[in-house]
Amino acid sequence: MRSQAVKGTHDILPDEQPAWRQLAEAAAVEFGRAGARQLTTPVFEYSEVFEKSVGASADLVVQKEMYSFEDRGGRRLTLRPEFTAGVLRAFIEHGMHTLPTPVKLWSAGPLFRAENVQRGRYRQFHQLNLEIIGLSQALADAEAVQLLYAILRRCGLARVHMRVGSVGDPEDRAAYNAYLRQALEPHQAELSETSRERLRLNPMRVLDSKAEQDQALLAGLKRPVDFLGEAARAHLDEVTGHLRDWQVPFEIDPGIVRGLDYYRRTAFEAHAQGIGAQSALGGGGRYDGLIENLGGPPLPGVGWALGSERVLDAMAQERAVHADEPRPLLFLVPLDEPAVAEVARMAVRLRRGRHVEHAYVRRNPGKGLRDADRSGAVFAGLRGDTERSRGVLQLKRLATGEQTEVAEDELARFLDEHA
Ligand code: AMP
Repeated sequence: MRSQAVKGTHDILPDEQPAWRQLAEAAAVEFGRAGARQLTTPVFEYSEVFEKSVGASADLVVQKEMYSFEDRGGRRLTLRPEFTAGVLRAFIEHGMHTLPTPVKLWSAGPLFRAENVQRGRYRQFHQLNLEIIGLSQALADAEAVQLLYAILRRCGLARVHMRVGSVGDPEDRAAYNAYLRQALEPHQAELSETSRERLRLNPMRVLDSKAEQDQALLAGLKRPVDFLGEAARAHLDEVTGHLRDWQVPFEIDPGIVRGLDYYRRTAFEAHAQGIGAQSALGGGGRYDGLIENLGGPPLPGVGWALGSERVLDAMAQERAVHADEPRPLLFLVPLDEPAVAEVARMAVRLRRGRHVEHAYVRRNPGKGLRDADRSGAVFAGLRGDTERSRGVLQLKRLATGEQTEVAEDELARFLDEHA
């Protein structure tokens, strides 16, 4: 038996759960207040769902990263590498286009990509995802950015900055890609292998490269924002106008791009300081034609995904985690054999509304109090022969050592009053 987690996967240990809950709660609050509704889709889909969304001119880098397999019925299935395709598949399948627009859907859960593992880059990781469907106005793009920022702030992150750019309309994109091809093709040999492949399939994506040799070649070149047509430029101005109006801090990033071909106009990212090279917490953009591509009506959309592990890393760096593991109010200690069943019965009864734990074997008072201390309980409750004969418990407030005798049938009330 291999007693190790698969490379690039992680256990989320009990001690880490409060931070995860803090993130989940921050997201649920902000999404809920903005009228976004939660959608849970399966972790695997027919491979076509992702292949179609990735598009004909597939960014191969993404395709190679998919965990695909055939099931026993010979169906080709893929573990989801991103949320958007599955969410839009569900949107179409359940006829959600008849709902009043915009339809705002959020999702959370694990994703799977066969990546090169490094800090902040795993093979199973988690995202929070938002899609705002049905609005072509810049207002939707701005709201998407604002919500991303609001969730990160609610997580307690102060050192977050938003970058906003635009990949333009399809013709602007095409013009920029042609420009990059022309500029970089003579230097192909100097590019990294990934960038060479990207130059062939989706030249813009070379801008995403972290390799020094690629960045050196890109240094003097123009950025997508320099190629915007009038309409895309006006759209970007409107988005940034709203963000200023709402006091969402951001900077224009002229070189921001999105991996897949269906993105157009607005592209944005959230970054954090101090979490290493993989500083992107999340990113998103506007997509058009994707819903149609997947067999739905021609509706526009804008969406983003936030990497949970990276947000948690940033929260740890900024010491922003304050959610604590819940502590018991009472830890019961049986001092003799008959008390073992008695304290278990009391615990079950008291747990209607309270956190109560107990020792499972007879303890002497010293050991029992140590157990209670380790549990982090507010009170320890001792029960032995003497207490039984009088129908009471000795209650000790662990922080002060203060001790009180409480009658069994007064216990619930006492705890509620003195907690
Ligand atoms: P993407 O879906 O590629 O646009 O990524 C959105 C966000 O998800 C990124 O900004 C990261 O925070 C996170 N992310 C993407 N890929 C990974 C990965 N392999 N491991 C951990 N986080 C990731």
